[in-house]
Amino acid sequence: MIPYSRQTVDEEDIEAVVAALRSGWLTTGPAVAEFEEHLAGFVGTEHAVALSSGTAALHAIMSALGLGPGDEVIVPPMTFAATANCVLYVGATPVFADVERDTLLLDPREAERKISPRTRAIIAVDYGGHPCDYRRLRSIADRHGLALIADGCHALGAEYNGARVGSLADATAFSFHPVKHITTGEGGAVTTGLEKVAGHIRSFRNHGIGTDFRARQERKTWHYEIDFLGFNYRISDLQCALGTSQLTKLPRFLARRREIAEHYSRSFLEHRDCLVPLALRDGVRHAYHLYVIRLREEEFAGRRSSIFKELQERGVGVNVHYLPVYLHPLYRERLGAERGLCPRGEAAYEEILSLPIHPAMTAADTDFVVKMLLEVLERNRRGASRG
Ligand SMILES: *Cc1c(COP(=O)(O)O)cnc(C)c1O
Repeated sequence: MIPYSRQTVDEEDIEAVVAALRSGWLTTGPAVAEFEEHLAGFVGTEHAVALSSGTAALHAIMSALGLGPGDEVIVPPMTFAATANCVLYVGATPVFADVERDTLLLDPREAERKISPRTRAIIAVDYGGHPCDYRRLRSIADRHGLALIADGCHALGAEYNGARVGSLADATAFSFHPVKHITTGEGGAVTTGLEKVAGHIRSFRNHGIGTDFRARQERKTWHYEIDFLGFNYRISDLQCALGTSQLTKLPRFLARRREIAEHYSRSFLEHRDCLVPLALRDGVRHAYHLYVIRLREEEFAGRRSSIFKELQERGVGVNVHYLPVYLHPLYRERLGAERGLCPRGEAAYEEILSLPIHPAMTAADTDFVVKMLLEVLERNRRGASRG
């Protein structure tokens, strides 16, 4: 089975973790700070704070903004649930704004339409690795006095008008889960240009304690104070040693993901009557966490699950990203969300497939995916005999 994504870990990565294991620091030690410095440098911003997951990173940002009950945060429905769950964690309310039909990115007009007197922030999701329209989102956020947050978990290495995701919003969350661009096993980070946000999050990941153990040891003191309610969202030195090693390979990983995407796009050009890849805007560099196609409704209405199953049976690990978040029972119950809230997201959900894309795929693998996909689509076309 060719999975839709997976980690690429080599001997160098393994040696880096072993070296950290021998160093004497297992939890928050020098490898965490080193990883944070490299990550901030890579995305081109002042601060990076590493945490135990991308979800913890999102939660930390909500806390740093001081959001709570009565506050609203605008989020797109086509994302992993963590984007909206983090709003619930702090007792605030996620408000879903529809996506653009051809990119499945948050539509700035829809975001603006959903702004109310309670709105405090917008979370932009760089779906699949395609950066959002940050210029327009920034101008809307500024005009209404809102924070612009990015869920960049799909988009490490993506660029918008020459600047990297991670440097474009007030704060950006990344994930280092094994399916993402680089991995630390589990892990995440916030990048931000705002000193105050970074400082808050450093405490937030450690129970709200302002100083870390190493700093206290250097100052020969046991005394610490808890300033606010934080969590244990620390990441370990072992994980960050892996992260720093992975970061050195990120340019290569990105180049390989882009090559695979170009190969797919070229192969599908003459099959536009069956499928359409998501659109690519001018001025962006896509990071291709996902390669998403839409099946033509006129040809395949109601057949997506059969197509999915047949591809899986042939060893092609396709996936579907995502059921619109508000259609999960949790959101139906909590928010009373109903079908029809974001019609473009809902329509897309019926038609999308994510094709395998990750650096370890060979040219033979991509050829195999294209061949199997076209075969399975031919069998499932309207009016085809499926014997
Ligand atoms: C992976 C992901 C997250 C959460 O990351 P974890 O590290 O798994 O907690 C959040 N948002 C999006 C869009 C993601 O893809």
